[in-house]
Amino acid sequence: MRLVEALCELFLPAACASCREVPASGGGLCAACAAGLPAAAALAVPRAPGTPPVVVAGAYEGPLAEALNEYKERGRRELAAVLGGLLGRAVAVVAAEVPDAALVPIPPTRAARRERGFDHVAALCAPIGRPHRCLRAGPRADSVGLTAAQRRHAADASLAVVPGRAAALAASGRPVILLDDIVTTGATLSAAAAALRRAGVKVAAAAAVAAVE
Ligand SMILES: [Zn+2]
Repeated sequence: MRLVEALCELFLPAACASCREVPASGGGLCAACAAGLPAAAALAVPRAPGTPPVVVAGAYEGPLAEALNEYKERGRRELAAVLGGLLGRAVAVVAAEVPDAALVPIPPTRAARRERGFDHVAALCAPIGRPHRCLRAGPRADSVGLTAAQRRHAADASLAVVPGRAAALAASGRPVILLDDIVTTGATLSAAAAALRRAGVKVAAAAAVAAVE
């Protein structure tokens, strides 16, 4: 079944990732849905304590939510350019206040990475700048019987720095902008910031593609 689907995707023009009614342009969305993407980045205010200031490209709704879902869950990597462009807009707002910042993407959990076959947040960095992969997901916790929220919490708690890379970043003195796809409570960004700060890295702010209101 997977092979058949893959072959169909090769030979048929893909439908728009949002409305699914008309063929997509090269970027994965039709022109009408692309026009419905958010126009200006905005400050999000997550409720988790210790979350750095976060700027997002838009709210998690409409074509932006559809595009993120198709990119993450259905492996439609052609959406990386438009989503990376939106993330870049949020980063630009933050970077204006934080000169010479290093970009540190939130790493996928090992299970998600295995399933998707690529690091979906780092892949959004291409139009923005070089990602510093200073964070890694920790050893896999036994998640049998956990709810989605409990699994997310376990994943956050297992976030750790890659020692050599974090030490190099700390020694450089450069401030960090954390990057993520979707911000909900801010717990993941808060855990990532805490791990980096323990390693002596300055975390100035964060940017994400979308915020769940
Ligand atoms: Zn569409």
